[in-house]
Amino acid sequence: MVAIDGPAGSGKSSVSKASARELGFDYQDTGAAYRALAWFALASGVDPHDSAMVVGLLEGFGYAIGTDPDDYFVRVGDTDVSDAIREPRVSAAVSAIARVPEVRHYLVALFRSIIADTDRPGIVVEGRDITTVVAPDAAVRILLTADEEVRMARRSAELSGHSAEAVGEQLASRDRQDSRVVDFLNAAEGVTTIDSTHLDFDQTVSAVVELVRLRTA
Ligand code: C5P
Repeated sequence: MVAIDGPAGSGKSSVSKASARELGFDYQDTGAAYRALAWFALASGVDPHDSAMVVGLLEGFGYAIGTDPDDYFVRVGDTDVSDAIREPRVSAAVSAIARVPEVRHYLVALFRSIIADTDRPGIVVEGRDITTVVAPDAAVRILLTADEEVRMARRSAELSGHSAEAVGEQLASRDRQDSRVVDFLNAAEGVTTIDSTHLDFDQTVSAVVELVRLRTA
């Protein structure tokens, strides 16, 4: 398997998905589970900062994610939340949920069971703690980074209709909160850093795919 960590706006999701497609692998976006739980809390009228109430939601969470890179979806129960979990109100609530140890523990187990269920030759899993906690023994471990200005510019291009400044502020504040829980800004031992600051999308995907082919040859 291929583990990819990195900060918000590093292009992790789109690069991981495209790399999985090229390799014929499955793809798992772990941030989607934290986002879906944040969405579920908001939809249930639970304050995302109330840890005990958030933990209480786990039992009825009913989370499902598509791991085929060509058939991506995220569901909570019967509701398709693929688009809703990208809304700024969810992004603003997600860090509070992601720092609750019981939530991380529950979701890490869920991620591992999804990894174990893959019927393809491999799976690309991306998030913040994949190289260190979820799958420290993955065959290939990558930290995907890019300079902050470049990450903000890419993210605001994705979220058209929102000012670059507002997007930048939200992204920086989320990284600040998240990095108190997991260090995803420095590569752990044995993890290869790919810096995409001066690479375009296709070049970044090629760098990932080449590294995987090299390591798994
Ligand atoms: O990757 P994405 O930006 O969608 O992640 C959303 C949030 O989920 C992050 O800001 C972080 O709080 C949390 N997260 C995490 N560990 C992961 C993946 C995401 O804490 N492995």
